[in-house]
Amino acid sequence: MELWYSERGIVPGLALSVEVSKVLHEEQTEFQHLAIVDTPLYGRMLWLDNIIMTNIKDEFVYHEMISHVALNTHPNPKKVLVIGGGDGGAIREIIKHPSVEKAVLVEIDRRVVETSKEYLPEIAGALDDPKVEVLYEDGIKYAKEHKNEFDVILVDSTDPIGPAVGLFEGDFYKNCYEALKEDGIFVAQTESPYYNEKLIPKVQKDIRSLYPITKLYLAFIPTYPGGCWSFTMGSKKHDPETVDFSTRPNYPARYYNHGIHKAAFVLPNFVHELINK
Ligand code: SAM
Repeated sequence: MELWYSERGIVPGLALSVEVSKVLHEEQTEFQHLAIVDTPLYGRMLWLDNIIMTNIKDEFVYHEMISHVALNTHPNPKKVLVIGGGDGGAIREIIKHPSVEKAVLVEIDRRVVETSKEYLPEIAGALDDPKVEVLYEDGIKYAKEHKNEFDVILVDSTDPIGPAVGLFEGDFYKNCYEALKEDGIFVAQTESPYYNEKLIPKVQKDIRSLYPITKLYLAFIPTYPGGCWSFTMGSKKHDPETVDFSTRPNYPARYYNHGIHKAAFVLPNFVHELINK
């Protein structure tokens, strides 16, 4: 008998369905419903609260693009904070960068990390690297308690529901600004421009009120609604569009390259309209 999992509800009126060959693990954690399934099309997948988080086939796009754009914009990133991101994909990318000395992951749900290590070692394997510190706490609280400490902060959050709601709010953004050093860079995943006509302009306004350089960039991710995904960057000093790539390191990546870095900031007109609303 065929088994299909459907992501429904996050975008009203839209369902994204994928055939499942095997359910490997399901549990209700303290924070959310967690499932690991095997699929013929995307390989192994992690779902949280019936929403697709990551999968073996296309995870590289999201994890490279949330990490390398900021890490290559900053001339010498040494200390990096990831809020959320318990699957470990962003951390795997961050520690490829030769200047990074320490990466801190603050994930609210310990079970996401433990389950990812068990079932998705290709994504989570770097979480045991000696440069990486994993903390199980609320990223909202953590950001408030740290000042002038990080070169780069990445918010690899779930969609703005449940414990992640506060990760899309002005107070949290202000605390991240203060947790960054004087030339620090902030990046948050900010959902699909097709379906988030309210969220994206709000985040732009919040980030613009803090950072002299605020930009949105795009990447193409088949398993996220709309396929076209946005990231919002706030930078205190370094402009992502004027990077001298001759001074930046080379390391293996499957989506990110210097051409993609530049092209990601070229936006369709409807996205320009959205961020200037
Ligand atoms: N790339 C994914 C996407 O866009 O679908 C998101 C990755 S998922 C691993 C995001 C993680 O953020 C989840 O594991 C969730 O537990 C965590 N998270 C949600 N709210 C959080 C909070 N307030 N503090 C820390 N982590 C949080």
